[in-house]
Amino acid sequence: MGKRTINLDMSECENREMRLGTIIAWDGSASELIEQSGYESRSQRKGSGCPGNGSKACKLCELNSPMNQQTMCTNAIVECQAGNLTDCILIQHSPIGCSADNAHFNLAFKKGLKKRHKPVQNLQIYNTNLLENDMVFGASDKLRRTIREVMERHHPRAIFVSMACATAIIGEDIDSICDELEPEVGVPVIPLHCEGFRSKHWSTGFDIAQHGVLRQIVKRENIHKQPDLINIIALWGTDYFTEILKPLGLRVNYMIDTASYDELAQASEAAATATFCHTLGSYMATALEEHFGVPQVDAPQPYGVAGTDAWLRAIGKIVGKEEETEAYIQREHERIFPKLQELREKLRGVKGFVMTGSSYAHSLISVLRELEIEVDGSVVFHHDPVYDGGHENSNTLKTLVDSYGDIPHFTVSKTQPYQLNALFKRVHTDFVIIRHQGLAPEAAKLGIPSLAMGDEHYPVGYDGIIRTGETLLDILSRKKFNQVLSRHARSPYNDWWLSQTDPFLLAHQPEILDERVNLKQKRKGK
Ligand code: SF4
Repeated sequence: MGKRTINLDMSECENREMRLGTIIAWDGSASELIEQSGYESRSQRKGSGCPGNGSKACKLCELNSPMNQQTMCTNAIVECQAGNLTDCILIQHSPIGCSADNAHFNLAFKKGLKKRHKPVQNLQIYNTNLLENDMVFGASDKLRRTIREVMERHHPRAIFVSMACATAIIGEDIDSICDELEPEVGVPVIPLHCEGFRSKHWSTGFDIAQHGVLRQIVKRENIHKQPDLINIIALWGTDYFTEILKPLGLRVNYMIDTASYDELAQASEAAATATFCHTLGSYMATALEEHFGVPQVDAPQPYGVAGTDAWLRAIGKIVGKEEETEAYIQREHERIFPKLQELREKLRGVKGFVMTGSSYAHSLISVLRELEIEVDGSVVFHHDPVYDGGHENSNTLKTLVDSYGDIPHFTVSKTQPYQLNALFKRVHTDFVIIRHQGLAPEAAKLGIPSLAMGDEHYPVGYDGIIRTGETLLDILSRKKFNQVLSRHARSPYNDWWLSQTDPFLLAHQPEILDERVNLKQKRKGK
């Protein structure tokens, strides 16, 4: 095994900002972002560092806005990762408020289990419910009691313990408590350092949950290789990967959501690891490659015809089925091309806009461009200048621009509804695809047909491009509804803000906030 960039000896996982130079606010063209990211020079330093001055913490210059409307945190992501396992328990060592989104994640978990043909169950998350006294005197005993109680009630295969802002502030030593209780309860007790203020982007939470699984669940001994098993790092999406890989005689091992302890443990026995999105999967895929010798699929993501071809070829090469793969690709082209042509005829010249997570957006735009839809602008919720592992073919933004052309207005912004009006004033679009549900109704109220893409696997593979095209035709047919809705929806923003055309006005001219306050006071005669 070569040089290791991921350190599994530490219980804490290095933040994305430090490891990859992640940013959450930027505005320009996609080609400018590629140039400023310096993927190649960063990847030569294996996942961290700066192409400019060499400082490890140096990052792509980002915009700094004084206004931040809504977001998730790393603790919430851990909740929907470690808390979405079928036979393990997550204990949130936090005030009860940090568990507020459990109801929402429970719904996603149940739907995910159904899509994966598993028995439906509730998510298994406990909360230590920190109160005022706990904040003053500490809550270690409360955590010990909860771990014992959880073991007695559920006999889980593993217990995860997550940090929150409050527990980090009072300095709860969850590592020691997990170490102390593990021999007593007899299953892995896994600390997860995911306090919300740890990282400015929620996606660090994916890395933290994966870090815990890699350290304490994935098998290191008695490994019996399964040459037909492909790890797919995913969320709760429909099991389309089995449809894609079964014709090549391959099986899928989904991680982390909806998996069981044994499914996670066998990750080191798989032939290869792939993901529906490098943003979410590159940490675990790289660690499996570096520490367990499981290669990651070095190819663009499996979206659109070109991406799916390349992805299948890379897998075919790893499993030694190159000829079978070529024949399979040929058959699939012949099967889908008539329908694809029909969709292109109907969608040619339509304008689309994407607002999703980073690497996923790059691939979704590829799907739209293959459907001959024009994409002049898009928003990604953050940007990683490089992915873990630094594989050349993982540079999805470069693949997008090289294969399908530039995107003139490519914005990095973390789910900020107040920017929508200016964004859609700047770039005309006939529809928008959004992956975070709260934003889709906001765009719909502006008169734009919006698709809230809840099932992240929907556009995957050859059938994914057909599914997406057909759904977009449905969305476009309700244009009139959105126009009527926009006439009746009241905006919470004032006319001054709605007249702006720069979504980052507050970052470019922060002094304008003071000017507005002074103006308001003057009008009131103060
Ligand atoms: S930001 Fe902190 S307090 Fe808020 S939910 Fe996340 S962990 Fe809890």
